[in-house]
Amino acid sequence: MTDQPQELDLSAILDERPESDPTRRIYANGNLDMSKIEVVGFDMDYTLAMYHQHAMNELSIQATVDKMIASRGYPEEIRDAKLDHDFIIRGLVVDKETGNIFKMDAHRHVGRCYHGYQKLGDAERQKEYGTRPIRLASDRYHWVDTLFSLPEATLLAGLIEHYEGNDKELPWSYRQLFDDIRHCIDEAHADNTLKAVILKDLARFIQKDTDLAPALHRLRSAGKRLFLLTNSEHYYTEGVMSFLLDGEMPFYRTWQDYFDLILVKAAKPRFFNKDQPFIELDSEGEPVGEAKTLKRGLIYEAGNNRTFEKEIGVTGNGILYVGDHVYSDIVRSKKAGVWRTALVIQEMEENIRFTHENMLALKRIHNLEEAARRIEDSINYHLTLLKSLGRMEQLLGRLTGPESHVVERARDSAREEVENKRATHVQVLEELETLESSVDRTFNPYWGRLFREGNDRSQFGAQVQAYAGIYTSRVSNFLAYSPNQVFRSPREVMPHERA
Ligand code: IMP
Ligand code: MG
Repeated sequence: MTDQPQELDLSAILDERPESDPTRRIYANGNLDMSKIEVVGFDMDYTLAMYHQHAMNELSIQATVDKMIASRGYPEEIRDAKLDHDFIIRGLVVDKETGNIFKMDAHRHVGRCYHGYQKLGDAERQKEYGTRPIRLASDRYHWVDTLFSLPEATLLAGLIEHYEGNDKELPWSYRQLFDDIRHCIDEAHADNTLKAVILKDLARFIQKDTDLAPALHRLRSAGKRLFLLTNSEHYYTEGVMSFLLDGEMPFYRTWQDYFDLILVKAAKPRFFNKDQPFIELDSEGEPVGEAKTLKRGLIYEAGNNRTFEKEIGVTGNGILYVGDHVYSDIVRSKKAGVWRTALVIQEMEENIRFTHENMLALKRIHNLEEAARRIEDSINYHLTLLKSLGRMEQLLGRLTGPESHVVERARDSAREEVENKRATHVQVLEELETLESSVDRTFNPYWGRLFREGNDRSQFGAQVQAYAGIYTSRVSNFLAYSPNQVFRSPREVMPHERA
């Protein structure tokens, strides 16, 4: 007899509640061994600097409306529109042709869809979008994939509601209205309108996180080099980063001491796919000329990832880039240079809190779905049985006596089973629908869960899964992990492998 190794009892380990707060954990889509990461880069806006979203929405909308009236001929009336600042979430799509705003599932099919604040019925939605996947690259659509984009969609929906909800015709085409909003908010970002207000009162717009400096320090003390790579201009970066880091830790004179290289106005995603030269800036942020090498203590503008990798002497897998923008920070950096990626998703803390508050209901939803599947299997089995009994009768001709009773009894019982199962199936689906919509409403009354649509992942969820190596709610969450942590993804399970 061979000796079987004794199985370790896992119950105590698995029953133990994790110590860490789930809203502050780092989650992995793939395995990431931090001991192999030599260089960690950070985006600034919505990554190191987390904004107070309501204040940002209000400021951006105010600036946009002012510009629409002053330079695009819009009437004062647009100030009267009642805007719901909670209406727009990340991952939605604006349809410029119809003014609709919708959420997509992982396969880019249109799920929930609104016109103004009015939900489209299934038939109407089906008629407009059918079952074809949406081509996001088309000029017809605008994807709200950064928190900077919430205000423009908020304003579009609010203005449509303001006019059409009061039985007035919208005086502009949907496309013109959206293009004008986009143009004005773009200008407000670029011409200092927003940034001047933010810099005057940073605490109103940006969250101060006292764990941020220690988290960066912890990575540095493990020998990793850090860099800053932001699209923001020199003057704005200086103001925001000083607010976040100056005076936070001894031995760091200013925020610049935390970083080995500082790159501003980098024009991502072009930084990752064009050969823009690096421009050296002086201490006032004025361009000095094209940089031949990159040095610690200086600040550079523009640039490109290939020269950058040569200068720091580390490529691809040795670099982790932490950003908030799925496309220009994460998709491009991963595709262009095979950098490892971490995505900061500010909404996660609230999202995970809701998930935990709804845990019992979510378990019930899971059980109801499993029950529905099993009932459907059983109905199928009994329908096949009924068909076989019918065929058997035909083959054997008219049965008489005991044989016919046996077949009839089997048929009656199969019919009864099908009827009962169908009734239970209806009940299960009704409960499922009611429970799902009540859970969804607690996450967001209009759109439900950020990472889900119907019984699939949302398109945003699918992108996070496909492109973000790890993801978390804020940069300071790194503080709770060893700088050499191995982040492990849960094992992927195909439907047929589920227990
Ligand atoms: P990052 O996230 O640190 O790379 O910086 C984002 C920068 O993009 C900030 O300076 C924003 O003001 C700017 N930004 C965000 N949205 C827009 C836009 O629509 N047009 C122009 N600049 C934008
Ligand atoms: Mg950003």
